[in-house]
Amino acid sequence: MGTPPDSPPTKAQPAPAPVRPRPKKTGSWNSYQFVHSRGSSTSSQFAHTLSIDVNTVAIPLSPGSHNTVEVPAVRSPDAHAAEYFHSLSLSPSLKERRLSRNSFSASLPIPRSKRQSRLSNVAFPDVQAALGAVRPGMPPVQPTREILSSQVQDVHSEMARRAKNMAFVFDIDGVLVHGDRLIPEGQRVLEILNGDNQLGIKIPHIFLTNGSGKPELARTTQLSGILHNPVSTEQFIQSHTPMRALAEYYSTVLVVGGEGYRCRDVAEEYGFKDIVVPNDIIAWDPTIAPYRVFTEEERASSRPRDFSKINIEAILVFSDSRDYATDLQIIMDLLRSQNGRLRTVAADPESQRIPIYFSQGDFLCPTEHPIPRMSQGAFRIGLEAMYKAQTGVDLERVVYGKPELATYKYADEVLASWMDVLHGEERVPENIYMIGDNPASDIVGGNMYGWNTCLVRTGVFQGGENDEENPANFGVFANVLDAVKTACRKQLGHDFRFEWSDSMNPVLHGNAEGSSAIE
Ligand SMILES: [Mg+2]
Repeated sequence: MGTPPDSPPTKAQPAPAPVRPRPKKTGSWNSYQFVHSRGSSTSSQFAHTLSIDVNTVAIPLSPGSHNTVEVPAVRSPDAHAAEYFHSLSLSPSLKERRLSRNSFSASLPIPRSKRQSRLSNVAFPDVQAALGAVRPGMPPVQPTREILSSQVQDVHSEMARRAKNMAFVFDIDGVLVHGDRLIPEGQRVLEILNGDNQLGIKIPHIFLTNGSGKPELARTTQLSGILHNPVSTEQFIQSHTPMRALAEYYSTVLVVGGEGYRCRDVAEEYGFKDIVVPNDIIAWDPTIAPYRVFTEEERASSRPRDFSKINIEAILVFSDSRDYATDLQIIMDLLRSQNGRLRTVAADPESQRIPIYFSQGDFLCPTEHPIPRMSQGAFRIGLEAMYKAQTGVDLERVVYGKPELATYKYADEVLASWMDVLHGEERVPENIYMIGDNPASDIVGGNMYGWNTCLVRTGVFQGGENDEENPANFGVFANVLDAVKTACRKQLGHDFRFEWSDSMNPVLHGNAEGSSAIE
């Protein structure tokens, strides 16, 4: 058998480790090279690469791993922070949370193509809708303010440039709202950022929550109604939003968690073609969950099939399990199966194991109960322990949500996209302010990702000057309005005014510099 002319020497020396080309630093998130491999001992055999274009995005791996550790530096001042994410679990303040072992050979699902929808997904509060109907039969009101504000921005071009180079990332609960109740400063902040300011300029902002279990549009509609400001699904990230990208890679998936079949609906909306939920499996074979009482109503609403003939390709935990015993049993069965086929047991639990993803890692969450209740992180830790006890190997998995790296990278993509919507410039602003009430997720994640972090006193944080374990690097504020005003003054000047006035019209009234925008 002949040897191809470019083959490496056969025995003389070990072949050098393959070197992947560095990505071009285009600053664009339009396209990615998606790298996915399974198993540690045989990853080179199982690795497959879907090369889409020039950029390469790969999740940082564990120390000692032989696979790739490349993350493109699209925001050079902060990019180095990414290399520390792999050791989040070593941080003393995070020990008990057992964070980020997100590495191994699991995939990093960041969208490789631009999302299709744009402003069509904006949910407007009722007041906005009402405004459009005040002149029945008459032409729509001319966007006078938009014209005026663009003139003001022309005059104050340097200030406008700085306003386009900053952005806010808001946690929701404890910052803007308490459950369904508005925090008044939250509404005012959004009014300012939506243009009620000296420049009449929209300052980019997105929402980043570990919430889950409902479609994005349902959440933004609810939020918009409470905050009396428009909120677009394109500026909204909940814990499972980044999983949308996985629909491109898996056809048949098990979706776990949430109330009723809501998460099946969310997964369908994300574009997953073939969604299985635990009830479908129990309806097919009730003996799989011996302690489960399965009602006729549940049976009627399930979609049983012969799952011994179907390969489930991935497990996606979207939201909190409502039945730990059943869900853990089914997940364990699948993790130990041959490539996701129930009623089989893999000879090699690593190479034949299907991947598992968790939408967030919070161990506890506050509820009406006086002591916080266990959340998805607790479920995951239980599963990991069971898996290790039964197979002897660690369970590889990916966790999303704050403060996991994958979610922050996704937030970058959303910010750039939202910048494109607002200002026609698809890029990530340099000065990003994360505003949150929880030091252990909002603040630590923002700090690690190189964002400015602001801790507010309207939610979880009840401490003194700053949090001792995870201090906010930009400061602690009484509420979100204080934080936003302080950040704006730093970026735009101490004289920056937080309300729009028609008297700012440079054509009619001149301006501070004594020149008109229009001669
Ligand atoms: Mg919060």
